[in-house]
Amino acid sequence: MIPELIAALPGVAFITDAALVRQRSRDFFWYSPVLKRQLNGVTADAVALPKDEAEVIRILAECHARRIPVTPRGAGTGNYGQAMPLKGGIVLDLSAMDRVLWAKPGLLRAQAGAKLIAIDEQVRREVGGELRFHPSTKRTATIGGFIAGGSAGAGSCMWGSLREPGNILGLRVVTMEAEPRVLELRGAEIDKANHAYGTNGVITEVEVPLAPAHEWVDVMLGFPTLMDAARFADALTRADGIVKKLACVVAAPVPQQYFKAFDGVIPAGMHVVLAMVAAPFLEALPPYVERHSGRELYRCPTEQAAVPLYEHSWNHTTLQALKLDRTITYLQTLFPPPGHLALVEKMAAMFGDEVPMHLEFVRFGGEVTCFGLQLVRYTTEERLAEIIRLHEENGCPIFNPHAFTLEEGGMKRVDARQLAFKKEADPLGLLNPGKMLAWDNPSWSPEAPRSHYMFGDPDAP
Ligand code: FAD
Repeated sequence: MIPELIAALPGVAFITDAALVRQRSRDFFWYSPVLKRQLNGVTADAVALPKDEAEVIRILAECHARRIPVTPRGAGTGNYGQAMPLKGGIVLDLSAMDRVLWAKPGLLRAQAGAKLIAIDEQVRREVGGELRFHPSTKRTATIGGFIAGGSAGAGSCMWGSLREPGNILGLRVVTMEAEPRVLELRGAEIDKANHAYGTNGVITEVEVPLAPAHEWVDVMLGFPTLMDAARFADALTRADGIVKKLACVVAAPVPQQYFKAFDGVIPAGMHVVLAMVAAPFLEALPPYVERHSGRELYRCPTEQAAVPLYEHSWNHTTLQALKLDRTITYLQTLFPPPGHLALVEKMAAMFGDEVPMHLEFVRFGGEVTCFGLQLVRYTTEERLAEIIRLHEENGCPIFNPHAFTLEEGGMKRVDARQLAFKKEADPLGLLNPGKMLAWDNPSWSPEAPRSHYMFGDPDAP
């Protein structure tokens, strides 16, 4: 089947070497011991490397004709096996479609395979702008992969997540049909393909707003207690006059144990806040720091840092730990506002050093709260499931990073708009098969009722 496909697509680059195909069939699924067990053997039959949208259309049409599954891929930095081809077939690697198409003050359009770091460098130079927020994988991830597989990152303490209306302005999507169509999704339609893991269309172009570019400074602050650190990060996120990009809390002893770039910088027992602050606003920080009994431990312009602080935040906190301790895994938790600080305190007391606290403060549906990306000192799958259950029973929903389906990893619900769009755009179910539970099992429903809704959520009461 694959040789015929390749023969039908003259001019399209393919990888067929089994070792290279296996490499590009993987992402960071191994963050989870559960996914590691489930997905380790997954591999595609070949990788296609389109250089433009016309090639994407030809590849999808030929794969549709042969009923070959297609799994899109950016840089493969997702960490729940999002880009892994569960049913084999083709991995569609979009990394060669990497151009910024245009940029003007406040706005950018780029091909889906453009790297976030390259976009930021180009738009800073050309229009004095930068992406509103980026995942901590800025140096490797693509903008299409971030929108299809990610959610938030450095900058979300100012701008919220990809789910907030206005953070994505347009998506150009190619459908998986006998004659693939090219659709421009705008406004509320964007949600059809936003964070859909490429299950209902291949994104070829994205249009996103830009923030004014700033000179960023990494600042690490130390606090005597976890709650001093959390209250400071909460206050910093609410300080609307201070332009910042990061308000990340990491509980002791995680930074002392695992932040090797900061050996000797962080006193024993200190809980840290990793902040990125625009240079002019640094002088506004001291009163906040003093009010919460903190002190500055480290400061460096982000551009000059050997390892930027954002590479110790978001999912990089877990990566820094995993480099030294392979038994570590993690959670993704919502601490719903307005009681988020009380919930943090309660869960920290419940689990102690078995689940060391790591919080990212964000804007969330018009409020301030924190996501937990707590580390877990892993013992067994049963204990991990129990830890997740105890969080949910205590009102802290888990976006389960130990599951590879959209529904289990997300808000525990079927996204009716994404399902309806899949019926229209991928009627044979060939795009990234196995990732949308509702497609394979229309009667699926979550066990637990939902406890929190996003702004603009169509299911909100
Ligand atoms: P991939 O991993 O290649 O793909 C992600 C998903 O999108 C897959 O389902 C894939 O099929 C689909 N996809 C890719 N391109 C397209 C396309 N053009 N059209 C349709 N579907 C497509 N995530 C965050 O949100 N915030 C973070 O701060 C963050 N930090 C991370 C830190 C580390 C160390 C790691 C390992 C992961 C982190 N992630 C984070 C997860 C991941 O890095 C981000 O989601 C990232 O933006 C994914 O981009 P990518 O190009 O690697 O996408």
